[in-house]
Parts: sequence; structure tokens; C-alpha cells
Amino acid sequence: MPEKQYDHNQIELKWQERWKDSALFAAEENSSKPKYYVLEMLPYPSGTLHIGHIRNYTIGDALARYKRMCGFNVLHPMGWDAFGLPAENAAIANKRDPYEWTMFNIENMKRQHRRMGFSYDWSREVATCDPEYYRWNQWFFLKMLERGLAYRKEALVNWCPECGTVLANEQVVDGCCWRHDSTPVEQRAIEQWFLRITSYADELLSAIKDLEEGWPERVLLMQRNWIGRSEGAEIDFYLEETDKPIRVFTTRVDTIYGATCVVLAPEHPLVSGLVSGETKSQVKRMIDARAAKGPGDIEKEGLFTGKFAVNPFSGERIPIWIGNFVLMGYGTGAIMAVPAHDQRDFEFCKQYGLPVWPVIRPRDGSLADAATMKEAFPNDGVLENSGAFSGLASEEARRVMSAKAEAEGFGKAAVTFRIKDWGISRQRYWGTPIPIIYCPKCGMVPVPEKDLPVVLPLGIAITGKGRSPLENVPEFMNVKCPKCGEGARRESDTMDTFIDSSWYFYRYCDPHNSSAPFDSKKIAYWFPIDQYIGGVEHAILHLIYSRFWTKMMRDLGLIANDEPAARLFTQGMVIKDGAKMSKSKGNVVSADDMIARYGADTGRLFELFAAPPEKEMDWTDAGANGAYSFLGRVYRFVTRNVGQGVAEPGEADKKVLRKLHQALKQITNDFESRWHFNTSIAALMGLLNVLTDVEEQISAPVMSEVLEKLTLMLEPFAPYLAEELWEELGRTGPVFRQSWPEYDPQLAREEEAEIVIQVNGKLRGRIFVDFGTPRETLEKLALGDAKVQALLDGKNVVKVIVVPDKLVNIVVK
Ligand SMILES: [Zn+2]
Ligand SMILES: [Zn+2]
Repeated sequence: MPEKQYDHNQIELKWQERWKDSALFAAEENSSKPKYYVLEMLPYPSGTLHIGHIRNYTIGDALARYKRMCGFNVLHPMGWDAFGLPAENAAIANKRDPYEWTMFNIENMKRQHRRMGFSYDWSREVATCDPEYYRWNQWFFLKMLERGLAYRKEALVNWCPECGTVLANEQVVDGCCWRHDSTPVEQRAIEQWFLRITSYADELLSAIKDLEEGWPERVLLMQRNWIGRSEGAEIDFYLEETDKPIRVFTTRVDTIYGATCVVLAPEHPLVSGLVSGETKSQVKRMIDARAAKGPGDIEKEGLFTGKFAVNPFSGERIPIWIGNFVLMGYGTGAIMAVPAHDQRDFEFCKQYGLPVWPVIRPRDGSLADAATMKEAFPNDGVLENSGAFSGLASEEARRVMSAKAEAEGFGKAAVTFRIKDWGISRQRYWGTPIPIIYCPKCGMVPVPEKDLPVVLPLGIAITGKGRSPLENVPEFMNVKCPKCGEGARRESDTMDTFIDSSWYFYRYCDPHNSSAPFDSKKIAYWFPIDQYIGGVEHAILHLIYSRFWTKMMRDLGLIANDEPAARLFTQGMVIKDGAKMSKSKGNVVSADDMIARYGADTGRLFELFAAPPEKEMDWTDAGANGAYSFLGRVYRFVTRNVGQGVAEPGEADKKVLRKLHQALKQITNDFESRWHFNTSIAALMGLLNVLTDVEEQISAPVMSEVLEKLTLMLEPFAPYLAEELWEELGRTGPVFRQSWPEYDPQLAREEEAEIVIQVNGKLRGRIFVDFGTPRETLEKLALGDAKVQALLDGKNVVKVIVVPDKLVNIVVK
């Protein structure tokens, strides 16, 4: 009979058919098993998957399958982050309805997810554009409004005068409109909704310590920086000849006698009263230029207002400037510049010829000379030229000076955060409607809970004109006021889509609940997520917002957990031809092409084998071919050896069992620790090599054991092949319902131990012995070693220390 060949298409399509049953991978309700919630970040349904997309799902699926075999009740769901700008852009560009475009992509990507063999519980699928999902966004919004966590204020948006519409930051390209690349984007102030994430800033920061064990340090560092807590003081300078205070925030009030100017953010509310004429237009240009560049590296730029402020401590009169490096959202939007003790201020003041006044000397040094200073002295020290505070140490001065400001009513000690309240209003169509009605008589009226959801109208024309697309839909906009019954208008903005992704993983636990976002008891069972997997680009925003949302829901009494995820894993990128896969680079390998050529199993295996999962991996044809040929060798080895084996056990059995249990130990340890699946798969390859070497000499019982365990070990990495081989072995029931085999530590040991021989603690030789060789034998062997004998010549052996299986140390005099 000719040998069976590995036909990936035939095998995978056969099992696809059998896996159609969506309940196959369903998590159990009311299970007595321990739970395990493994989750990959939900994708944006943007089109089709390419192999750069599938790495995190492959990692998550391997883990889900392994944990099922270890006896856990595994929740492994999938859903769609279905609202957002790309659908709306596609609608404008290709005249495709965002809803249809999104649904088409979801169907297609779901087909690809299934085809990759990802074992999702599809009965819990969530799409965030479903009114039954986003009604709870609206419900949470109303709860936050009741509690003062949602509020409205004026804020700046990007405005394209050509389109006559608001642009998202992503639609601003080099300061111009994405559709009108010569039209500079302007900044306009409009009323918008905000969520008070800053009232959780302290907890979001302090609770990071509870995540240190399970989250990557790099992510936590990014969160700490984003939250950006600083201790300092708020101090009122006074506008000369008026009583008008200009409140500044400083972390170094001890340097206040060295302040040589006050600098305001260009958006500071005082600015409009201080400048006029040409300076006013310069300020506007400054604001627009900064918006265009983003907060990154802008060149420092300043404008003198012609006005002066008075330092409340020294009485000194100093000029008031406007600076593009001062941020309205940080502190008070105004700073005092102390060039002698802050490098940024030093550079700014030098640039504009402002004086430098040193007021802090090093503890054991003398005060710098302003005329020769080359850079700021930013450290703590001892105050000089600081009136009554001269001679104090910086730290004490900060305390005393904040207290004085507070006592005299011109300031206080204060903490400030870099994180700002979350602006959630989007002047876009494809998102959750904000459940607010504006009545000419009653003012702002929240939509009553019983009227939720406020459904987003479908099939409307999106022109890309006007403040917000919904404004042009009268049947949506015109509504009766819930309070007085008179004609009123709905809020036309929709919510930031980061709201959708802030709590979707709770909905998976109870996806069909129509009376609440979820049943709290179900959350208590499943949460926190045991393992969350996604890209490091979500280290801030999504991962901060979802932590905030969790704390907010806890404070509403809905859940008991403080954090959404106990562990977070950030996978590395997939690289091809030296670059991240992207359409513009032309190096995209579509998942469908890859599957047709090699099969899903090969794709999965190669993605896990090419590199540790947190590192970048290089997709190469040679590598994919290697993975394919390995799976083919496994297939042929198993199929030709079913029911085979020699009668007599011999040396080959020992070799095979050792390699088998070593592979099992390696893979188990990889799953339980660092997920270095590259070493897991290498162990499987090593096992196959030994098996083929001694194929003709393996006894029947050992052959049977090794075929079974090899198949079980393949399951997390190449589930199609595992099922097929399981059937070839005459076994029934899906492989993921079998138990993960335990390794025998005795069998997994190397046959020979390497014994280090030391003389007086110095390495002098090595010998190889059987494991478990007795102490006396080890001592004899060590003393008899030729090299050692030469060293012992003429010396006295005082003591021999033996550590079995490891070392012999001979102490001589
Ligand atoms: Zn435009
Ligand atoms: Zn009314």
C-alpha cells in the first residue's frame, strides 16, 4: 500500500465541516470546574485578515485549547469593534452604507477566524454596532451623568472650512484636511461631552502596583507616564495694576524667587484679554500650528503680551508671555519660568533674551553666576536670594512656602495629573448616539432609561458636510421633549468608539441579557480575565479606559473586581521583507492565500515557532515550508505506525520514552510560564527525529503511547492535524476534550548527568555518569580522573564534598 500523503486541504475542510456546531467550544454555565477566561482584543472589522493579524489569535487559541485539556472551564469569545471612522470613510469614498460594509466584513472575517481553527464560543459573539449592545453604552452614560461623572464643556475640535465639518485627529494630515490637502485645519471651540476619568486618576495610578505581576512592565510604565502625577503647588501671580490672579502650577515653588516671566498656554482664557491686533492672530496661528503637529516635538515659540505680572512672594514685576509648550490641560495652563533651575525654561528665556536669576545653590557648593551659566541647575539645594526663605533646604522650603501661600490666600499645595478628562463627543455618524435631548423650554434632558436604546438610523446619506452627519436626519433629530412634550432636538454627536471597547469583555459573560448589561453573578464567576492578549499599541487609551470603566462599574455596585484583567500579554509584530505588514508596503500575505497554499495548521505552527511570542517574527516562505514539511512528516509517521511495533522492548524504547517525556515536560512548562512555544515546537521536532531514527525498533506498547501523546501535544498548535490523527488512531471524541498528558519526571531526565569536578572550588574537569550514581562511586571516579590526579600530586586530601548528579569538590592542602 502506498504511503498516505499529508493533504492539508482535504483534512482541514473535513474538520471545518464537523466544527460548524457553534456549541462545540462553548463555555459551560454553572460548571464545577475551575474557570479560565482567555481573551484576545476584539478586532476592527476592516476587511480581511492577513497573517500579520492572526498572531495574537493563534497564541490565545493555543492557550485556550491547552487549558481545556488541563480541565478548565474555558471562556474564549470573539466579537467586533464595529463602530468607527473607517466604515464612515468607506461610506463617503465608495458610497457604501457603513452598516452593510461592516456586516460584510464581519461575515468575511468570521469565516477566516473559523477557517484558522480558532476555538471560539461563537454563541457569545458581540458586535458593538448592535443596538442591544450599545444601548448599554447609553445606559452607562446616563448613570455617569447622574453621578456627575459625565459633563459638558466647550472644547476645541479640528474644523475643515472647505468641508464645513469637524475632522477626527486621524483625518488631519500634516495640518491639512485629508480630503483637501491644501486646506489648513482650523481649531473651533464647541460644546462637547466629557467623562471625568480624572476623578479616578489617583486609583488608576496607585492600583498599578497590583498589576505588576501579570502585566508587562513597559505597559505599566506607559500608563504611569500617561497619568503623570506631580506634587507641587498652585500659586497666584497678579496681573499688574489689577487684582486679577494668574494661577500657575509648579513642582518647584522653592525656586519662585528665580521666576523671570509667567508663560500662558495660547488657549488660556486670560489671553484674549491681554492681546489684540496682530498678536491675536499670531496666537491663533500658534494654536493651529500646534494642533496640526500634535503634542510631539514642536519648536518652542513665545509671544510677549506687553503685560506684566507680580510675584506674590518677591513682589517682583515680571513679563507675561504666551508659549506653545505650555499645555492648557496640564496643571493650570500657566507656568512661571525659572530659567536658572529648569532646562526648558532656560532654553526659552535664552531664546528671547529674558534674564536668568539663580536662587538655589548646591548643598556643598556656591550659587551659579547668571552671566556664565551654560545650563540650568535643576536639583534640590539651598535657597539664596529668596527673602526670608534664604538658607532653607529646597524640600523644607516647598512645605513652608506652600503653607504660607495657603495661609495668606494666594495658593496651596496641589497635585496635578497629566491625564485629562475623556472627551467622548464625536461629530461622526457611525457610533453610539448620545442619549440627550435639548428642549428650548427645559434645556438639556437625559433620555429616560425606558426609551433606550436611542437607535442610530441606518441607510442615511453621509455627505461629509455639516457639524455632524446626524444633524441632517430630521426623523432622528426631531423628538418630543420627555419632560414637557414640546418639540425638541436630539444630541447629534455620537460616542467615541473607545467606549465600546471599554467593557465588551463583560458582555461576553452574559451576551443576550436584555434587562441589564450583564448579570453580576456571572461576572463574579468569570472575572478578572485570566489572560488578555493584544498589541502594545493599546498600552494607553484602551487599557486605561477599560480600567477606568471597571472601577466606575464597581462604584455603581455592578461588579466586585477592581481591575479587568489579571494578566496581559503583548505579542510582537509580524515582519515580512524587513517591514511590518501593510498594504502600502505591498508585503501583505493574505490569510486566505496562506491557507490555500499551506493550510491553517502550518500558519499557526509557523507563527508560534518562528520566535518567542513577545518578539517580532519574520514571515518567510522557507519558514512556512519548513513548518509544512514537519506536519507532513508527523502525519506520515503516525499513519504508517498505527498498530505497529516490535514484540520485545529494547534500548530504542528507553530513548523514545525519554524524548517523549522531555517534550511533554518542555511544552507543559512553556504553557505554564513564558509561552516560548518556539521551544515547545522544537521539542516536538526533536521527538520526531528520534522516532524516525529508531522507528523499526520501537515496541508495540511504547509505539502506542508515543503516537497518542504526540497527537495530544499537537492539539494546541495544529488542531486539524491532531483531530485527523486521533481518528487515525481509532480514537473518538474531540482531542480538546482529552486530558493533557502528564510527564514522568523520572523518564524526562537526561540519561547521563554531567558532574563538575572542582579542586578547592576551582573547575578542573567534567565526567558523565548515569543519573543517580551513588556518592562513593562519584568520589572514586573524581579522585581517579587523570587531570585531577596530577593536581593532587604531593598534596593532602582534607575533604571531598559530593552533590549527587552535580559536582564533586575536593579540598586539598
Ligand atoms: Zn476638507
Ligand atoms: Zn421640555
